[in-house]
Amino acid sequence: MDKTYDIIIVGGGPAGMTAAIYAKRAALKTLLIEKEFLCGGQVINTYEVDNYPGLPGIDGFSLSEKFKEHAEKLETEFLNGEMSKVVDEGIWKRVILKDGTEYRTKALVLALGAVHRKAGVIGEDVFAGKGVSYCATCDGAFFRNKTAAVIGGGDVALEDAIFLARSCKKVYVIHRRDEFRGAKSLQQKLMALDNVEILWDSVVKEIKGEEIVTAVTVENQKEGTAQEISLDGVFVAIGTVPDTNSLEGIVKMDEGGYIVAGEDGVTSVPGIFCAGDCRKKKLRQIITSAADGANCVFSAEAYLNTFPS
Ligand code: NAP
Repeated sequence: MDKTYDIIIVGGGPAGMTAAIYAKRAALKTLLIEKEFLCGGQVINTYEVDNYPGLPGIDGFSLSEKFKEHAEKLETEFLNGEMSKVVDEGIWKRVILKDGTEYRTKALVLALGAVHRKAGVIGEDVFAGKGVSYCATCDGAFFRNKTAAVIGGGDVALEDAIFLARSCKKVYVIHRRDEFRGAKSLQQKLMALDNVEILWDSVVKEIKGEEIVTAVTVENQKEGTAQEISLDGVFVAIGTVPDTNSLEGIVKMDEGGYIVAGEDGVTSVPGIFCAGDCRKKKLRQIITSAADGANCVFSAEAYLNTFPS
């Protein structure tokens, strides 16, 4: 098998999938590497996407399937594997996977996405998978007619709480400030639900249980009071951190680990481009990831044209 490509895209979320579509349309020999069995990234676990133009209310799984079908129709080559290292050899970049296999490319698009941020609370690690979850759409069904809490105040926390409220007896939303960061439309939906209680200015100090979660200790930071709440599940939805550990020392990153690149996706290393949630930027949405993927390939094509054919 020839392991040399014009462009390798690492990551199969909206950014990577769009990059693949644009690369194939530019007739580039393209490989897309995705570490998970299913492509889609974070979108796959979003129960409803209501801000992607033309597809109001589509579920995240179906949207990511549509992205993949589109890339497949253009005969994108897909590979299931996890990148462990990138070696910059000038014209060629070597992408080394965890299983030791290597691929060579002139242009590399990093569309690595992001992973869930941990709350760093006592009991979080102990009860992970035993009542502590980072994905309401994956694990919500385990809490039917039970009580759950969602930690966070962004879009994901609000979406998760609305989703859980459909099947849970009661849902607490525990947020560290007195206003939400998430979209106003989601706030309105959430506030209208009878079985949701919002604990403002509050932080979880400890997640308790024996075999499984049974309670949380919550501190109201404004009032300086603490209470123990009996519950069955805790959903941590406090944002994401970029999945860029494997790029340490290769491309320039900011203090949060986001890759520094403009809208054109051009990073500090010629031939390496960046798209989607792992890029340092303000608005992280499906549509901005898709736009990044397109821009990246536009830049990569111009870069590849500087080589004699
Ligand atoms: P986010 O917007 O960064 O919100 C994270 C929330 O968690 C914030 O409310 C933050 O509080 C809170 N938080 C952060 N660290 C915390 C800690 N250590 N302890 C307690 N609370 C903490 O993250 P997100 O909701 O995961 O969304 C990520 C991105 O995806 C956002 O840009 C969002 O707009 C986007 N998104 C888009 C869609 C869509 O396009 N349909 C859907 C979902 C998400 P503060 O508010 O006090 O900072």
